[in-house]
Order: sequence, then structure tokens, then C-alpha cells
Amino acid sequence: MTGDADIVVVGGGILGCAAALRLAEGGMKPLLIEAGDVGQGASGVNAGTLSLQIKRVGLMDYALRGHREWESYGPAVGFRRTGGYTLAFTDSEADLLHARQRLKREAGAPIEFVAPATLAAAEPGLSDRVVAASFCPLDGDANSSLTGRFFRGRLREAGIPVHESAPVRALRRTGDGFAVETSGATFAAPRLLLAAGAWLKPLAAMLDVDLPVHARVNTVTVTERSAPLIGSVIGHATGLLTMKQKANGSILVGGGWQGRGTPQEGRGEALAESVAGNLALASFVLPALGAVRIVRSWTGFEAHVPDFYPLAGALPCVPNAFVLGCVRGGYTIGPYIGRLMGDFILGREPELPLFDPGRPFPEPS
Ligand SMILES: Cc1cc2nc3c(=O)[nH]c(=O)nc-3n(C[C@H](O)[C@H](O)[C@H](O)COP(=O)(O)OP(=O)(O)OC[C@H]3O[C@@H](n4cnc5c(N)ncnc54)[C@H](O)[C@@H]3O)c2cc1C
Repeated sequence: MTGDADIVVVGGGILGCAAALRLAEGGMKPLLIEAGDVGQGASGVNAGTLSLQIKRVGLMDYALRGHREWESYGPAVGFRRTGGYTLAFTDSEADLLHARQRLKREAGAPIEFVAPATLAAAEPGLSDRVVAASFCPLDGDANSSLTGRFFRGRLREAGIPVHESAPVRALRRTGDGFAVETSGATFAAPRLLLAAGAWLKPLAAMLDVDLPVHARVNTVTVTERSAPLIGSVIGHATGLLTMKQKANGSILVGGGWQGRGTPQEGRGEALAESVAGNLALASFVLPALGAVRIVRSWTGFEAHVPDFYPLAGALPCVPNAFVLGCVRGGYTIGPYIGRLMGDFILGREPELPLFDPGRPFPEPS
């Protein structure tokens, strides 16, 4: 059994990496264990949208601070602040857009409503059937495929040992902490942080804790490179579309359309009808997209609990064990909430409140 770490972090997604980095900054010795490669989970396959317009009102303070973290990472993660528009095409969509964006503006997001003519001047390629639009100058994106490389480098610079290709197979409480067993080795530490995304439930169960974690199978589609068609992040009032054109000309389309599969089975499978629905909406919004060829669609698992707020705090009934995950929009918010979690474990007062994993949850609908 090897063990000179102060804490073992299980899961090398954005949340686990950001927490480990904060713990090291604060003087602890973390050790990170990842089943595959750092950033191979949701953190490395997501759509990369950093949009305040699609964040939950209750998480806006976290998203605003998360944005600042991404900005500080800069070109190493492909960060771009392009601004973003969210569009409505019917009166009922316009009502929805106004109601939702007003609440987000009250929560601190600098969202304004713009006239269709202003939108058309800024983004001439979009459909002329827009009846209402909102704009947020802070919106932008980053390149999620760079997540692993970026955080692996940061962990190395911080001197944090990282064990990749090391799925945790067993967790045990010992007299003075935890034994964390992988196929190759067993690691011991007085503290434990579970940050395993959509795979949290079986890990917590190894310590007899039942976390109500569920997974959505989100789909993303990328096109071939095309001439410039849009310059900002484009969304739809219903939340069923996010679209941006990357610097190389390819267009990334998402919006939470569901694929098939479970985290235990592997990466999941894109469904033709889901991809077709997503692309039909995208081509309605951006008609020229209809002439651009699709290169690939893929899926990833996004974890959530029944109230759709994060799990971030002490693991119920297990002293010195912690859990961090299930953050809606966790690519945007991840770097910041990881720091908060690190502060909590270091015994510091976090700048914003965490989300008690032991709170009561509603029955899933
Ligand atoms: C397709 C898709 C699109 C998305 N688009 C956006 C977006 O545009 N903007 C946005 O803000 N958010 C987006 N999200 C959400 C965001 O990606 C996630 O909220 C965030 O990446 C979750 O980070 P995480 O560290 O909790 O989980 P993950 O990144 O999944 O990391 C968990 C890690 O734990 C590891 N692990 C699991 N089991 C074990 C084990 N037994 N032992 C060791 N390691 C283990 C996994 O291999 C994985 O690397 C999207 C999600 C998906 C799936």
C-alpha cells in the first residue's frame, strides 16, 4: 500500500483536476487517480460552450466566476469571447426568452435584448424569421478536446502525482482514512474526494452511501470546414440548440439532444433521430448550414441529481470523505467550483456556498 498523500482524488475531469490544484496550492499533497486519461469524460467531449445565457439562475454567480477562470487559461484551452445570441422565432418562444433572460440578468449576467435588425446586421447568415433575440457579450467558447492536455500539464507543474489508466475497483475505510484500490496498486490517504462525474454512484456505494446520481447522454455534432457563416455563439430560446463556428471553419452543434447508453457500458451512442432533430433546428436557424456536410456526431455522459444542483461537500456519514460532481454547465463552472471545494477541504470558508450532498432530494420525475 502506497501512502504519503493527504488526499486521494478519484476522477480526472475538470472538477477533480481543479479541486486537486487548489488543494496543492493550499499546501496539501493530493494524488489523483483516473480510470482512463485525464479529461476523457464529459470534460473532454463536451460542446465547449461558455454561455451565461444557458446557465441556471441559481448558479449564475458560479458561472460568472467560472468564466473568469477560462479567460485566464486563454489560448491553451482555445478560449474565445465571441459574445452570444439566443433567438426566438414565435411569440411563445419570445415570451419564454424574455422571462428566462430577465431572471438571469437580475442574477448578474449582462444580458440585453436586441432588435431583429441589430441581430441581422451582426449575424447576416441567420434566418430572417427571428422575432426576438438576447445578447450577452461575455458568452464564448473553448475547445474541450484540449481539457486533458491542459490540466495534465497544470497537475504536473503543481507536482501532483497522477495515475491514469487506473480505474478504482474498491474503496475501504481504514483506521486512519481510506484505502483506494486499483488493479495495479492500493493507495492510502486520510482523506478522499470522489469526483468521478457520471460514475459517482457506484463509487459512493463502495462506502455504503447512496447518491441519487443520474446521467444524460448528450450529443454533439461537428461539420466539415466551411466559409465563415457565424461569428458568435448561437442558442435557441428553448435551450435545444447551441452552435458556434470554430477558427478552422468547422461548426459545432449541440443542445442536449439525447443519445443512448449508460456510463457503465461505455461512451454511449448517438441516435440518428436525435442528430437529425438537432440539425433540422440548426439549419432552420442558419439556413446555409444545410449545404455543409456533417463529419461526426458523438455523445458524453452528463451527471445530475434530481434537483439539478451540484453535489459539492462532505460525503454523508463518512468522515473525511467528500464528493464533487453533477454540476449543470460543469465545463463553464467546473474550474471555479473545484477551487471552492478545495478551500472547503482545506478548512477555509469558501467564497460562495457549496451544495450539501446530504440534502433531501425530490423524487426524480
Ligand atoms: C456532450 C456534452 C456536452 C456538454 N456541453 C457543455 C457545454 O457546452 N458547456 C458546459 O458548461 N457544460 C457542458 N457539458 C457539461 C460538462 O461537460 C460537465 O458538467 C463536466 O465536464 C463534468 O466534469 P466532471 O469532472 O464532473 O466529470 P467528467 O469530466 O466526466 O470526469 C469524471 C472522470 O472520472 C473518471 N472515473 C470514473 N470512474 C472512475 C473510477 N472508478 N476510477 C477512476 N476514475 C474514474 C472518468 O474516467 C472521468 O474522466 C456537456 C456535457 C456533455 C456530456
